[in-house]
Amino acid sequence: MAFRLPARTIWRASPKFAAIPRISTQAPRWKRKYAVSTDENRTAIVTGSARGIGKAIALRLANDGYDVCINDIATNKSGADEVVKEIQALGRKSFAYIADVSNLSEVQGLVQASVSELGPLNTMVANAGIAQVKALLDLTEQDLRRMFEVNVFGVYNCYTTAAKQLISQNTPGKLIGAASIVAFKPFALLSHYSASKWAVRGLTQAFAMEMAEHKITVNAYAPGIVGTAMWDLIDEKLGEKTGAKKGDTIKKYTDELIALGRTSVPEDVAGTVSFLAGRDSDYMTGQTIVIDGGIIFT
Ligand code: NAD
Repeated sequence: MAFRLPARTIWRASPKFAAIPRISTQAPRWKRKYAVSTDENRTAIVTGSARGIGKAIALRLANDGYDVCINDIATNKSGADEVVKEIQALGRKSFAYIADVSNLSEVQGLVQASVSELGPLNTMVANAGIAQVKALLDLTEQDLRRMFEVNVFGVYNCYTTAAKQLISQNTPGKLIGAASIVAFKPFALLSHYSASKWAVRGLTQAFAMEMAEHKITVNAYAPGIVGTAMWDLIDEKLGEKTGAKKGDTIKKYTDELIALGRTSVPEDVAGTVSFLAGRDSDYMTGQTIVIDGGIIFT
């Protein structure tokens, strides 16, 4: 039988090895301690939160103890005002700020307004997005441009503006973006939408690398088929192509694709975003978490 000495004993016994300084594999303490503020009053901005997934995220973060800035475009102002009232009824501060996320100066105004109304920023949820059902060969330059302006430039504008604010505050923070399962496996007829969500995944990884030194984590969520206005549109437009009746496409996809056998609700996604915004995800960055009931497996 072979006789083995523990490595540490050999190391200590040899003067040659003992002279070599030991390198700790533990990160310095400050590096291990990020990225959620310990402040009592935490604040978040959720873009595109007048309805759908963004609204569920805003309400969930308010329930988690955040004061929340609601954002949407002017056409959904009344929805945004309703969400503000619901959050105030929970005993948290909230206000609505109308801004188009594809416009950098409007996003800068959004972040400034949030800081002056609610206090220092902790979390940015870049949720706003648009979808369009169209065959690749029918896409116009304008279709492609608008998809990227909202879904990619919008996330970029929110990530950079919020990051600059966090750095100027010298506080840790969380940047969170809306991707999709199509960021892993595209859907036919949603090609430019799929490409925009792949870009969100890529931006999230790149931002995670560059923001780590500022104690800012950057992650994204990838929902599957969520019953919102966006999927009403996708269902209707796919139905026009296939002849399916309204509601039949989402039902077919749910039955055939989702392992858990039900269409997702916005609250499924909000729970994941709550985790990404909270302390339990402090050691995670650059990830895009799939929350789809089991359609794709990463
Ligand atoms: P939705 O259409 O119901 O809501 C999106 C909200 O964003 C709307 O209130 C809209 O007015 C707002 N918005 C659109 N363009 C904007 C802009 N330029 N600036 C500010 N606000 C803008 O959509 P949803 O289903 O709640 O989706 C939310 C996010 O989740 C989107 O990024 C979407 O791509 C993503 N997502 C949704 C699903 C789904 O199945 N519904 C699946 C995967 C990913």
